[in-house]
Amino acid sequence: MRVATYASHSALQILKGAKDEGFETVAFGPSKVKPLYTRYFPVADHFIEGKYPEEELLELEAVVVPTGSFVAYLGVELVEKMEVPYYGNKAVLRWESDRSLEREWLEKAKLSLPRIYEDPDEIDGPVIVKPFGAGGGRGYFLASSPEDFWKKAERLGVREKEDLSRVQIQEYVVGVPVYPHYFYSKLNGELELMSVDRRYESNADAIGRIPAREQIDLGISTDYTVVGNIPIVLRESLLMDVIEAGERVVKAAEELMGGLWGPFCLEGVFTPDMEFVVFEISARIVAGTNPFVHGSPYTWLRYDFPVSTGRRIAMELKQGIAEDRLGEILT
Ligand code: AMP
Ligand code: AMP
Repeated sequence: MRVATYASHSALQILKGAKDEGFETVAFGPSKVKPLYTRYFPVADHFIEGKYPEEELLELEAVVVPTGSFVAYLGVELVEKMEVPYYGNKAVLRWESDRSLEREWLEKAKLSLPRIYEDPDEIDGPVIVKPFGAGGGRGYFLASSPEDFWKKAERLGVREKEDLSRVQIQEYVVGVPVYPHYFYSKLNGELELMSVDRRYESNADAIGRIPAREQIDLGISTDYTVVGNIPIVLRESLLMDVIEAGERVVKAAEELMGGLWGPFCLEGVFTPDMEFVVFEISARIVAGTNPFVHGSPYTWLRYDFPVSTGRRIAMELKQGIAEDRLGEILT
């Protein structure tokens, strides 16, 4: 068996972790990035050009580790149909890609969630408007009143109530962004806290460098294009809340969709009242784990060797082989 993934996002970490666990590795993607994975960072033993070279992957007896890029570029339908074994539960994809199903899942897990406005004319405080299917925070905008909403929504082609199915209007929660990364081992029935990051976003993280008066004069609006990730270590008294939120998400997934296993991430903010308000779940490895190729403070507390999320996935695959239980974790 070989470990394969799409050449972007968190592939360096996934493939490095797989090699550390003794697997041969495969990267696939555009030929332009081949040197990145084979020469500058020699983590891929094989590089195949293509978005998803199914034949070659089957021949190599590869298992695909999905990332945000793999799912984004292939699309949920193709991923559901793919024949190469996939690490994780594919049933989760539907729940995650549909904002109403995702909401049902997070509500069942009893997480604190931002209020959703079905009717923009009810907006009575700051909101963040998210077009459906927007990748990486592109096209989001902030509004503070119904008039403000309708004025700004126009550039998305949203002019009347019939067009509202294209966007979700969430209460804008004021707090600091915190993205905890988890790993649920289906083989051991245990949840692990792997690491925590926040994103470095353009231009959201640039606006504070401009004095308020100039901000208004320049008419700057906020974008959330991810450029990188910054590690966070949480205040220790917050850890139990974060861990319990993860446990409840796993439990809700067992009831709703046959389970969630492997890496996942809750994306939210901590408010001044120390409440963790979650606005999204990523049900696979997030790129925010990339600062921790050599492990994080949290994995170091649990393991006596450097464990990244990528390596943790490979450890689970290795255990699956050793215990003859791979079938339980691949779909
Ligand atoms: P890419 O392959 O870099 O074009 O990314 C594919 C998807 O993963 C996009 O939706 C990105 O927003 C997301 N993504 C990529 N890199 C990161 C990162 N470092 N942090 C958060 N999200 C990311
Ligand atoms: P997302 O694409 O949902 O991960 O969000 C992109 C950016 O918008 C991140 O910087 C988040 O911190 C911010 N964000 C998303 N939803 C909310 C919300 N309901 N309240 C405050 N900030 C948010």
